Amino acid sequence: MTAPSVPSVPLHSGTAIPALGFGVWQVPDADAHRAVAEALRVGYRSIDTAAVYQNEPGTGRAIAESGLPREQIFLTTKLWNSDQGFDETLRAVDASLDRLGTDYLDLYLIHWPVPEYDRYIDTFKAFERIRDEGRARAIGVSNFRVEDLRRVIDETGTVPAVNQIELHPGLPQDELRAFHAEHGIVTEAWSPLGQGQSLTDPVIAEVAAEHGVTPAQAVLRWHLQLGNVVIPKSVTPARIAENFDVFGFELTGEQMRRISAIDGGRIGPDPAEFNLR
Ligand code: NAD
Repeated sequence: MTAPSVPSVPLHSGTAIPALGFGVWQVPDADAHRAVAEALRVGYRSIDTAAVYQNEPGTGRAIAESGLPREQIFLTTKLWNSDQGFDETLRAVDASLDRLGTDYLDLYLIHWPVPEYDRYIDTFKAFERIRDEGRARAIGVSNFRVEDLRRVIDETGTVPAVNQIELHPGLPQDELRAFHAEHGIVTEAWSPLGQGQSLTDPVIAEVAAEHGVTPAQAVLRWHLQLGNVVIPKSVTPARIAENFDVFGFELTGEQMRRISAIDGGRIGPDPAEFNLR
């Protein structure tokens, strides 16, 4: 089947990431294999996993079995906190590549800054080497605050291509998005549907009804029109297809503002305090 065209967002490193991808957090390996196979069948071409999700093998197998040329897929994985540090990172990337059954990543992310550990600068220096050696086409970070991004830029001279952050209605992350825009960093939204919580918000229901679409589609449209890259997760084939079908309508400026005004907050951990490793 021909994949419907999803717009691409250019990365300053020279490649481009599909604006809509598929995430597999909390999906056991065998289920990830099935879900990624289904997502690729529907037309998704960007897959987001992480070493800590323990589903790199199933994800990699689904990609290999899809028959799609590797270069048509944008594959992201993330370095876990306990693997931070220069030498540790060089070992961890090879382990991820091995589990994924590929010889390069399209995007490698530092999963969390882990402020107490204070190793992300050395880690990012290893990322530069990984990029220079061709094992990752782009390198970036996740859950980094403005102060963390500033340090990376000042101390390594490299601007991360992407910062993947918790972002959904109720947590629009205006300050980080403005910083990203100023520095050419792409904003990627994790838990874009608020882990499903955004879908029961009455404002979302109203906007969705105004377009005859589902709440998930309205929320994903809000992200895309803000310029965010999104990676919604589902293991249910009908929802995997529904979340991909978001290019046939457009929210008005007024609908965008109504969604952006929704009250909320974080669902996940605060990166300033998340020191698990
Ligand atoms: P999400 O916001 O994508 O929500 C997923 C949940 O919403 C599903 O489990 C399901 O319950 C519900 N859902 C999905 N589609 C639906 C639909 N069409 N209709 C009704 N309900 C629907 O949550 P997420 O999985 O937390 O985030 C997406 C991805 O972001 C993850 O899979 C992972 O790849 C990434 N992520 C990254 C980090 C990080 O620290 N970098 C953290 C969390 C998630």
